[in-house]
Amino acid sequence: MSEERKAAQEQDWSAYRGVMIVIEHRRGEAKKVSWQLLGEGRKLADKLETSLLALVIGHDVEHLAAESIRYGADRVYLCQAPELLDYRTRPYSRVCLSAIHEIKPEIVLYGATATGRDLAGAIATHLPTGLTADCTELDVEPHPSRLLMASRPAFSEKMMATILCKQYRPQMATARAGVFQALAPDPERTGEVVHLEVREDYSNTAAQVIAFLEEKSSVNLEEADIIVAGGRGLGGAEGFSLLRELAEVLGGEVGATRAAVDAGWITHEHQIGQTGHTVRPKLYIAAGISGAVQHTVGMQGSDVIIAVNKDPQAPIFQIAHYAMAGDLFQIIPALIREFAKRRG
Ligand code: FAD
Repeated sequence: MSEERKAAQEQDWSAYRGVMIVIEHRRGEAKKVSWQLLGEGRKLADKLETSLLALVIGHDVEHLAAESIRYGADRVYLCQAPELLDYRTRPYSRVCLSAIHEIKPEIVLYGATATGRDLAGAIATHLPTGLTADCTELDVEPHPSRLLMASRPAFSEKMMATILCKQYRPQMATARAGVFQALAPDPERTGEVVHLEVREDYSNTAAQVIAFLEEKSSVNLEEADIIVAGGRGLGGAEGFSLLRELAEVLGGEVGATRAAVDAGWITHEHQIGQTGHTVRPKLYIAAGISGAVQHTVGMQGSDVIIAVNKDPQAPIFQIAHYAMAGDLFQIIPALIREFAKRRG
């Protein structure tokens, strides 16, 4: 056993308390996963009878501290500097590490996004602790162990593995967007905001942001309030043109089943389900989708599900709030006409 490991095992971790969520944003606009993690973190913190903490790093992001409190945080640690305007691995991981050393949270959660994965991985290499990636379930064993039970699909998604970090603190995990539910923001909620000092000069860090180019065309299923998804029932790539029209009048995004992706009708970035995105929009329209469990696992948390299928026995109708049994090639154009009229 290495000296570091031995020392960590012998350490008294009782000073580590609190569940900390690292709030992710792009230039001050929060990613939904941050609020979803605060919602789940609230449950864990309550079960452990401890505080829910949020860490906000950026520039001009006081509003995110206030929002974090509305979404359930008890205390927000806010670290701001012009060099922290955009995410870069080194400055953000250094700030995060110093915050972890100072605050000593027992659990730290990050979104399993490109940024969250990069940040959590960088931090894990500097702490004598583990990191469970891409979790879809989180729970805690209350006193005395206070262990985080971080579960994620394993062995080609055939089993769920629950991973514990028994001898080190903090316990860390990244969690998928769309899996957990955010609390309804409470404007009356109050909390504490603690300002953290920036202790290093990051202006000369090797990685520099040269320009910030917003990609307007990229698919953003996890953030979408409305998703119009299609499956094999669309009959081909042309079927997706119809769905794009509907998505456009509704101001939503287009999703797909794996069958449609495998058939080459649409790219994988649109796939929803076990091996695709997990989404939780306000409205999910499923057209020509049978409702296989590998698909529904990625969208069943949607607030309202409308299913269009010509087979009245299709399993998707079991989870749909509104069922439209019929031919999608008649129903979808009628919906487009109707919504377009209402939009004016
Ligand atoms: P089908 O099951 O073929 O359903 C087509 C539906 O369209 C039928 O219900 C039919 O009645 C209806 N239909 C046909 N014509 C019309 C019409 N004109 N009007 C109205 N309705 C019509 N799937 C995913 O989606 N996402 C995943 O991430 C995913 N991961 C997987 C991982 C593993 C390990 C495995 C084994 C499978 C995975 N799958 C996934 C595949 C999944 O099991 C299903 O095969 C897939 O979801 C079926 O897609 P579908 O509903 O488009 O097609």
